[in-house]
Formats: sequence, structure tokens, C-alpha cells
Amino acid sequence: LFGTLDAPEPDEILRSNQAFAADPRAHKVNLGIGMYYDANGRVPLMRAVSEAQRRIVDGGVPWPYGPALGSETLRAHLAALVFGEGTPVPVSAQTLGGTGALGMGATLLAEAIGPDAVVALSTPSWPNHAPIFARAGFTIRGYRYLDDAGTAFDREGMLADLAALPRGSVVVLHAGCHNPTGVDPAPEDWPAIVEILRAHGLIAFVDAAYLGFGAGWSQDCAPIRLVRDSGVAMLFSLSCSKSFSLYGERTGCLMIPHQDDAAARGIAAHAAAYARTQYSIPPGHGARIVEIILGDEALRADWLAELETMRGRIIDLRHALVSTLAAEGMGDRMGHLGRQHGLFSQSGLTRAQVARLAAEHAIHAIPDGRICIAALNEGNLGHVARATAEVCRH
Ligand code: PMP
Repeated sequence: LFGTLDAPEPDEILRSNQAFAADPRAHKVNLGIGMYYDANGRVPLMRAVSEAQRRIVDGGVPWPYGPALGSETLRAHLAALVFGEGTPVPVSAQTLGGTGALGMGATLLAEAIGPDAVVALSTPSWPNHAPIFARAGFTIRGYRYLDDAGTAFDREGMLADLAALPRGSVVVLHAGCHNPTGVDPAPEDWPAIVEILRAHGLIAFVDAAYLGFGAGWSQDCAPIRLVRDSGVAMLFSLSCSKSFSLYGERTGCLMIPHQDDAAARGIAAHAAAYARTQYSIPPGHGARIVEIILGDEALRADWLAELETMRGRIIDLRHALVSTLAAEGMGDRMGHLGRQHGLFSQSGLTRAQVARLAAEHAIHAIPDGRICIAALNEGNLGHVARATAEVCRH
């Protein structure tokens, strides 16, 4: 019956992780991961998350069916956290992580404006963006994002490509800590980006999966607020996976600001209908954890403090890698790693060099040169730096 279905090619991230799993060498390193790892190479259970879990268990909280749009309290907390206390709460839905928010938003957009519109993605972008929007029927186009060296932001290229899009196109913007490159527009670039969106009648779909890992929570929210304040038509997808280290819980939110009551009712009804047919209601446990943390001043402060520690650790790792690479004879050739943000970096390594890192040194990265900085630790950083210098030398 299903013999006619071709197996889709796994994307490069999945392939790299499969190669790592199959590598028998004990000193192997996985730079292809998409999670924050702590100094012991483990995904952390954050203190506030642990405490919230304890309260759930101690409280004997039951798990009835909830509403299709998920927890209203959670959505209000997340909106306040991103857009500021006291600002209007946008129409929203709790979703299955950031991926779920993108999928729901893509479907709502296709229902609202029809699938003929163009969806523009940065070149490169997170490999799941294009399939998510293509599944909703959209035509995908790229906009320039990186300079010729492939390691810094191409402001003029991006602005020119956005200005050339047909009116009504959807522009997917990474809020920060761009995946896969770690290259972000500077704060002073954002007003120009927003002005192009406004002047050309473009729709912003802002995707935030790494809030708190860039320059700090409130600084990381600044571009999102800027887009919202500009009045540009906007969808916003928020993932709690990294910021709360809750990957497997599938906690996220789709928010759509600037809607009058009638439009908000229509969006909510369509979002609920989407949820009903896809998964009925979003998962409760991760949502309850985030709700408890954000609803308790002390827990919230502790969560933010721990997130800050994680952010600082990544910055320290970046600087340690850059200086170790310099000591290995690379000079400032890898200096961009210290200027990029978030979990990932576009290393600038070629496909051939990445292949050699895997074959000769058991270091697995994404073939396009993306490396996960948070996968480094005291135990493997020296090995990674030596091997990188070696494949760049010969
Ligand atoms: N957007 C981007 C840019 C991402 O990198 C990711 C996760 N890798 C997501 C969205 C999806 O996040 P989640 O795991 O919460 O679905």
C-alpha cells in the first residue's frame, strides 16, 4: 500500500548525528547537536525547572484535557516576558515547541492569504523552515544573509533582497542567535530591516528559539518589540526548548499581535481548529513547569540567573576556542567565532574540511560548517582546536 512512498532524505543535521552515533572511537565529539550542553557534556535540568517539577508532584496535580489553545496563563506570562508587562496580550496559542508554532502559523497564513504568497528565508536558515512552509503550500525564496566569506552579516544584500520581494510576502526573521550561523544583524541594523518590511508591505514571521543566549533576555527581545511596535503585520513563534532546557516537553507559543477583536476571534477559532485535527490539545507538563516558574518571582529570578550563566559559559567557550586556535597557529582566521552569538557558529570550514574532521579526528559537525559551541567543554576543546588547525593547514 505504501510502497509508492519515497523515503525523504534526512537533513544534514540528522545525518551528522547518525554518523556520530555510529562512530566507535572513544574520543569522538558531536559538534552537530542542537542543544545546550553543560560543562559535563549533559543537557542541564535547570534548578527552577526541577523545583517546578517537585511542586507539581507534591501537589498531586492531575492532568485533565485542557483547551485546544493551551494554558491562557502561560500565554499571558510569555507575552509579558517578551513584549513587556502591561502591553496588550496578543492573540496566541500554546504550541508543540517552536516547530509547532511555525507549523500553526504557516497554516493560518495559508488560510488567510492563500498559499501563493512567497515565504522568504535567510540563506542559509534552519533546515526545517523551508519544509514547514512548503508543507503549507508556500513558494520558498531565499534572501542574502551572509557576506562573501560566509561568516558575517550582509546588511546591504539582505535589505536589497527584501525590497525586491512582492508585496504581501512573508519574511521569516530569526530573532537572534541565528541558526545555523550565529550571525545576527547588529542592534543598529534592525530599524532598517523593519523599515523595509513596512515600506514594502511585507509580513514578518519572527522566530525566537534562543532568547537569553544572545546579549541577555531583554536585549534579545528588543528586535521582536521593534517589529511589533512598527505596526508591521507580524506572527511570532517562541520556543521554550533552549531557554528552559525543556526540549522533549514540546513547549512553545504562537503570538499574533495587532488584531482587533473580530480578527482575534477568527485567528483563535482557526488555531483551535488546527490544534483539534493535529493533536487535539498541546502537552501540559512543560507548559505547567514554565507557568509555575514565570508565576513565582523567586523562581523566575533563579531561572533567569541560570540562563545568564549558560549564556556566559557559551561566550567563555567562544573566546577559549578562538585563543586556542590562535595558539595552534591560526592567527585571527577564526576570530569570527568570538563575534557570533548563541549556540551555533558558522565556522567557515569547507565541506571537505568538515569531512576530514569526521574521518581523521572523530569530530562530527554539519557539512555546511555549522558547529555547536555549547558542545565544547574542557575535555574536548583542545582536541577540537588542534584538529581544526590541522585540517586548515594541509
Ligand atoms: N526555530 C529555530 C531557528 C530553531 O533553531 C529551532 C530548534 N532547533 C526551532 C525553531 C524549533 O524549536 P523547538 O525545538 O521548540 O520546536
